Amino acid sequence: MQKLIAANWKMNKTINEAVSFISEFKKLIKDIKNAEIVICPPFTSLQAVSKELKNSNIKLGAQNMHFENAGAFTGEISPLMLKEIGCEYVILGHSERREFFNETDDLINKKVAAALKNGLKPILCVGETAEQRQHGKTEDVIEDQIIKCLKGVDKIKDVAIAYEPVWAISRGNPNQKAATKADAEDAHLFIRKLLEGMYDENAAKNTRIIYGGSMKPENAKELLAMPDIDGGLVGNASLNAKSFAEIVKSAR
Ligand code: PEP
Repeated sequence: MQKLIAANWKMNKTINEAVSFISEFKKLIKDIKNAEIVICPPFTSLQAVSKELKNSNIKLGAQNMHFENAGAFTGEISPLMLKEIGCEYVILGHSERREFFNETDDLINKKVAAALKNGLKPILCVGETAEQRQHGKTEDVIEDQIIKCLKGVDKIKDVAIAYEPVWAISRGNPNQKAATKADAEDAHLFIRKLLEGMYDENAAKNTRIIYGGSMKPENAKELLAMPDIDGGLVGNASLNAKSFAEIVKSAR
């Protein structure tokens, strides 16, 4: 299975900054075939980035969306709009959306269903907080999130699950430690087994489970070499073209 390496730029980069990143990044990874690369800029840069990515080996994703295609939802963006602008992927249920914007598993479930219905591939984020891990609740939390967020979803192969332990997410701190490769692998294997129970062995094997949380050039290779880590969702280290290109090149 080809690895998926996705950049989550969060609320960073103006249109000009986004475009200049893409022109530098494209040159750095032009011969890459070992990974599927996705850039998820803020909504305001989607159009410009979409144009820059035409005829390249890089795909476009969004960081969030509403579950309706249109309507009286001030400030929201719909799946139709994302499709039209050239998005293939959409990040859903990121821990920052859960924490700062009160997104619940039920809401995220509606978004996952709406994305799939509109031909967008969700990158569904799950993961425990530090406190939940300390209390030995990691697997319970992940299981609960996945079961609720995937309720009624049958096209599981079009979904990538991003395991993002909240305690490992950098929030802009380049010195934040990632999960160890062993801890990340344990969680990924747990998710794979869970999917096997919810769907079947084949579906579980063919669904990408990617790791997010302080992935950077220094640790990407060892994380991406683990048997159940099928890619990465990269925040802070994806803001710099050289460091993101190095991470992409670490994928085998
Ligand atoms: C994220 O929040 O999706 C993420 C992976 O962030 P970072 O790489 O900065 O920890």
